[in-house]
Amino acid sequence: MLLSAALLCPAPGAWSQVNGAPTNGRSPAASPNLPSLGDGEDLTVAAERRLGDRIAQSIYRDPDYLDDPVIGDYLLQLWQPLLAAARRRGEVSPELSERLAWELMISRERSVNAFALPGGYMGVNLGLLAVTERPEELASVLAHEMSHVAQRHIARMMSNEQRMAPWMIASMILGALAAGANPDAAGAAIAGSSAVAAQQSLKFSRDMEREADRIGFGVMTGAGFDGHGFVEMFGKLQQASRLNDSGAYPYLRTHPLTSERIADMQARLPEATPALGPRADAAPQLQGLPSGMQHALVSARARVLAERDSTRWATWVERARSPDAKPADLYAGALSAQRLGQSARALELSERLRKLTTGDAARGVADALAMELLLSPGAPAQPALLAELRDAALGAQSRAMVMLGAQAAMATGQAERATSRLQAWTVEHPRDALAWQLLVRANQAQGHTLRAVRADAEAHAAHYDWDGALERLKAAQALPAAQRNADPIELAIVDSRRRDVEQRLRDAMRDDDKR
Ligand SMILES: [Zn+2]
Repeated sequence: MLLSAALLCPAPGAWSQVNGAPTNGRSPAASPNLPSLGDGEDLTVAAERRLGDRIAQSIYRDPDYLDDPVIGDYLLQLWQPLLAAARRRGEVSPELSERLAWELMISRERSVNAFALPGGYMGVNLGLLAVTERPEELASVLAHEMSHVAQRHIARMMSNEQRMAPWMIASMILGALAAGANPDAAGAAIAGSSAVAAQQSLKFSRDMEREADRIGFGVMTGAGFDGHGFVEMFGKLQQASRLNDSGAYPYLRTHPLTSERIADMQARLPEATPALGPRADAAPQLQGLPSGMQHALVSARARVLAERDSTRWATWVERARSPDAKPADLYAGALSAQRLGQSARALELSERLRKLTTGDAARGVADALAMELLLSPGAPAQPALLAELRDAALGAQSRAMVMLGAQAAMATGQAERATSRLQAWTVEHPRDALAWQLLVRANQAQGHTLRAVRADAEAHAAHYDWDGALERLKAAQALPAAQRNADPIELAIVDSRRRDVEQRLRDAMRDDDKR
């Protein structure tokens, strides 16, 4: 197995340039006689979560980390029914359900990969989204990874690493992530041969893989997805492995597709169902699950966002100009045209797309694209269309719509509407860093300096950057008296948040000392 076959399942391949250094600045080589994780017990749920938070903190800062609300909303539409099914079936206990993050993180990486991290964080590469053709295929990979977390496979593996401090494991995982994205960086990221040896042992066993297949399949079908997606995804990966040995499919390095695994999955399919489920243009099997068209549009978005070669964008624009272009072609063409600076063409393709999309969800993805294009620098002014989309978005519930609606409100001189929608949103989603960042801008536009500075602090806290949050809360307290006293309620919140954040920093320091 390759180095990248760490405890991350199936293989890390994301987030290059992750800062793998432990936060306390010690280097693994300089720390002999490390205190142990525990006494032969599995890592506790709380300890696993703290370890995951520490890894997440570094990932949030990585340039390959992508907070894309459109893709994020789509992944949640797959993820939430899977998680609900896992809870119903007792695969995810109430304790795990409550204490782990269950958060999906998107990476810009083009390689085909998804992996579980400690603490219930899950990485999904753009490359995986780009190659899947149906929601069921993506759901099968997510269900498999979720099952590793639910079965506490990570905690079990970690308990084999008694001699390693959690911060050291965290930096090792981050090193492996960087190495997966950039093999040349492996040596620099992973210090010392003992870490490499330890990493070899932090790998899911074959039994764990089988268990994740079995439970993942149950979770996926329990959520209402067509179980054929599981077998199809295996088939797709197997075919890809024959055609492609370029390392673009790190998933295969750690998930060898033995005929045994495929046969095992096929045996689970009910005989009565047809050999293959509906294709990309079919209706969803159940209410609420994503449609094939929605998947095709989001997958097109992932392809364009993952592509750095502008000649490919030009190809996609050309394809979209054909009169029989499909919705996914129009989506890829419109977004590619925008990236090439062809704003008018981008909008023209996006309008053709909006006329073709059917179903609320796919139409929502098309409307979000239209807003994104209208809000981008140099876009032709279409005030009537922007106002119509803005009003619909501000009344919508999806994160992408709320974020785009707020930006449209600011762009059209309605910062107050943006503020009130974003404030309501952050009450329900206090860890939404993007919403806080937009609140900074909206408050600034209205001259609410204290609120803007506090929102900036919250944006940092949302990504576990406690130092950055504290710095801003102190700055808020140091504002001129006139600005502070104009808003006594906000000032009281700032004072209380500063105490919370200081407590977080003390906890983190104590964690480091213990180890
Ligand atoms: Zn696995």
